[in-house]
Amino acid sequence: MAIISSKKHPPEPGKKPKSKREKAKSSPPNENLLQPQAAKDEEGKPEESIRPQRFADYIGQKDLKDVLAIAIEAAKSRGEVLDHLLLYGPPGLGKTTMAMILAAEMEVNYKITSAPALERPRDIMGLLVNIKPGDILFIDEIHRLSRMTEEILYPAMEDFRLDITVGKGASARTRSIPLSKFTLVGATTRVGALTSPLRDRFGLIQRLRFYEVDELSQIVLRSSKLLKTPVSDDGAAEIARRARGTPRIANRLLKRVRDYAEVKKSGEITEEVAGEALQLFQVDPCGLDWTDRRMLSVIIEQFNGGPVGLETVAAATGEDTQTIEEVYEPYLMQIGYLHRTPRGRVATPAAYKHLGFKPPNEQLSLL
Ligand code: ADP
Repeated sequence: MAIISSKKHPPEPGKKPKSKREKAKSSPPNENLLQPQAAKDEEGKPEESIRPQRFADYIGQKDLKDVLAIAIEAAKSRGEVLDHLLLYGPPGLGKTTMAMILAAEMEVNYKITSAPALERPRDIMGLLVNIKPGDILFIDEIHRLSRMTEEILYPAMEDFRLDITVGKGASARTRSIPLSKFTLVGATTRVGALTSPLRDRFGLIQRLRFYEVDELSQIVLRSSKLLKTPVSDDGAAEIARRARGTPRIANRLLKRVRDYAEVKKSGEITEEVAGEALQLFQVDPCGLDWTDRRMLSVIIEQFNGGPVGLETVAAATGEDTQTIEEVYEPYLMQIGYLHRTPRGRVATPAAYKHLGFKPPNEQLSLL
């Protein structure tokens, strides 16, 4: 088991630690510290206290910030609303946060919803008619909108108009209701799953990237100040290295390490304390979790390193293909452990080494 929750007891003394390979094969953890999606208890107030409120607090994503800073200034100087914006990228990278910051910078209100909450046409209609001039409407998982909701959005986005059909059959008429000008910010992990009419209605389409270790270190240091937890630079870097390039995970690890430092140590998070705590919670030094390790070990052990099809990887890990493509693979590719080829997934020599297998060229040279 690679990752467990903080509730799990440390291994019994005297018990032989499992080898890296055995760990990859054992059963998955119940709770996962390295999941980039928000856990239920992370949606409340303490989370909000560390969420950046203004552009200046939003660390990293320089390209995105440059583009948006210009868009904000231009919109403000013309007295217009911001163009509709589509943000895409893996979960936990700061899409919702950026939508809130845009509202703060434009000095407007925002409403946050997600596609699964907009199943019935009247859900989106209710939101649209109540929107105030300049407001930001944030729709998460926008690739999951129903067809009807999407069709209501087209004229709303393009002409700030709501078309409703009154009556039935031959006497049916379409009435148009004018809406206040607003900005739609859509977020998705699957930009390719958006229909093209919807995608085309966004003036700005921006991708969020995984964060570098030094950016995540800054995020950890900033959050630790807000949480009033002393963290050394080295301690922050140790957490950052294991956070899968994702601020949400960095903040979650910080909170777990803080508990450990308070209970077992003096309270300060140094490199040593962070290392010990994260080892106890079985957080991999590269941020890999059980599913990552299982995926890679299946490819290596059962398929000689690949190529192997996505469906097979999904069956071996018990994950669905979509989650593997959207959540697991982007990070494994980013750190150079996995290649996607037209014939399937391939594990790289770096992945062999990390999991304790001999890379394929070394095996050949031994023969
Ligand atoms: P997403 O909407 O992409 O899933 P969120 O915007 O909810 O991600 O971000 C998750 C958490 O990570 C937030 O609560 C916030 O505290 C933190 N976070 C995200 N991006 C940044 C950033 N650039 N700088 C500092 N903290 C960030």
